[in-house]
Amino acid sequence: MTTAVLAHCSFCARPNTEVKTLVSGPGVFICDGCVSLCAAVIEGKPASIPRVAPWDQELTLDDVLSRLAPVASAGAQVQQNLTAWVRKARTLGGTWTRIGAALGMTRQSAWERFSGEE
Ligand SMILES: [Zn+2]
Repeated sequence: MTTAVLAHCSFCARPNTEVKTLVSGPGVFICDGCVSLCAAVIEGKPASIPRVAPWDQELTLDDVLSRLAPVASAGAQVQQNLTAWVRKARTLGGTWTRIGAALGMTRQSAWERFSGEE
């Protein structure tokens, strides 16, 4: 049984301590409950290609405002994960040049963004 909060579902924001399974992706996570919900949505709808981005759908201001905090929370988790991956690369001997190249940025930009130094 896991006791430490290591990550949150990027869809419902529940921590790993409150779900059965948390599947990781590139900086994002999805819990068993959200996978089940997604499977039910996919099963119940004919296949279709989204025609507009979620923020371009017909929405009220309250709908939009209610989505800001969850989006910001998911984004913050992705940033924290990226920083942790960069820290891991550093512990494995990764230079700022190689880390920057892997991220498509300069050595200097990588250092400024992730080193924690000024
Ligand atoms: Zn979830």
